Amino acid sequence: SQDSRHVVIAGAGHAGGSAAAMLRQLGWQGAITLVGEEPIPPYQRPPLSKAWLKGEATTESLLLRPAHFYPDAGIDLRPGTRVTAIDRAAKAVTLSDGAALSYDFLILALGARARRLPLPGRDLGRVLELRTVADADQLKAVLHPDARLAVIGGGYIGLEAAASARALGAEVVVIERESRVLARVAGPILSNFFQDYHRGQGVAIETDAQVIELDAADGTVAGVRLGDGRVIPCDATLIGVGVVANEALARDAGLGCDNGIIVDLAARTDDPAIFAVGDCTNRPLPLYGRMARLESVPNALEQARQAASQICGKPPPAPEVPWFWSDQYDLRLQIAGLPFDATETVVRGDIPGAKFALFHLAADGTVRAVEAVNASTEFMGGRRIIARGKRLSRRRIEDMSVSMQELAA
Ligand code: FAD
Repeated sequence: SQDSRHVVIAGAGHAGGSAAAMLRQLGWQGAITLVGEEPIPPYQRPPLSKAWLKGEATTESLLLRPAHFYPDAGIDLRPGTRVTAIDRAAKAVTLSDGAALSYDFLILALGARARRLPLPGRDLGRVLELRTVADADQLKAVLHPDARLAVIGGGYIGLEAAASARALGAEVVVIERESRVLARVAGPILSNFFQDYHRGQGVAIETDAQVIELDAADGTVAGVRLGDGRVIPCDATLIGVGVVANEALARDAGLGCDNGIIVDLAARTDDPAIFAVGDCTNRPLPLYGRMARLESVPNALEQARQAASQICGKPPPAPEVPWFWSDQYDLRLQIAGLPFDATETVVRGDIPGAKFALFHLAADGTVRAVEAVNASTEFMGGRRIIARGKRLSRRRIEDMSVSMQELAA
């Protein structure tokens, strides 16, 4: 091709892999190099705590695109390779294999890593985390019927892993520091619902529990010691206490970072030649008038599209309502929006019947977020309502004789 320009993408996860593909879709004629430290082509992480853990997915089905896609699309994929430094003045990056690559545009898609607890016993055998396919394989290897799994952290990953472990016949205890599971990401009604549901499935949940240390037997974890003196015996421990953005590469290059690499709505950092996308960013949320670091596939895709559009000189895509999903047992949770500034929660549907949606409203009645359990119509309608900044009354939301179509109209 005549186009001698070069896009380098650092990080070959969901955001980086998608950005490479979108650049080609939008007509980028120049070179693309996709550098990722993991040994396999870009793959999806959501199944790692769900279908993959339960042995219901193949490696091929994890991949974002088949391996031959990259050479076919003229994308130079370099697996097993890290970007180690950025020289902004020279517009070049250094790689772990010693190579240097110059770029016209650089996209940082570095993702996040599991937060490490400074916990005595953290380095014992069978103390696991769940971020990569390699992590998931280790967890899968210890999950046999009657294995005892202690999950530290009642967030989405911990709860999804708990549900999958139960499906495999393991005994599970979830240990949560806060007074309810999902405390950081969901309202109390949803937390209580999931807590009850997990208990109904035989998961023990310890809330307000402080983990002091991990006990060992022959170098392997044998128990989780709590602040009240109790020890939860276990054969393996999964620590799922949130993630930390991989921002060091950007910070070392002098780019603005604050709980993530700071970007604008075109996914641009404060260097016009450098973009950042996905879990590693702290991004504006125009619908909510603030910045946030989101950890979701839809966010990774939205920002990949923002960066690719900008680089290809295409109009910026319209901002999306953030959304997220989680699957546990036969429950499909879908969340539209974020409950910022919400002062009121309205229930639509049947909580004991596990088919309902929670509408979170601001003081003026504007819908900020909808948490839907086995209620995808409410989720879809909720996204439209939030996008338009619509106000709804409690009475109309609760009234199941008013259809979602009418509510969203
Ligand atoms: P990542 O997918 O983490 O990719 C970043 C990549 O960059 C990694 O491969 C990393 O090794 C690599 N990298 C880092 N530094 C360098 C470097 N210096 N050089 C080269 N490569 C580097 N989201 C949902 O929306 N729904 C779900 O149900 C859901 N379930 C999940 C379940 C699990 C178990 C996990 C772990 C995540 C889940 N997520 C879910 C979150 C979702 O997977 C992430 O939001 C998404 O992967 C973010 O994509 P990313 O490309 O920003 O980061």
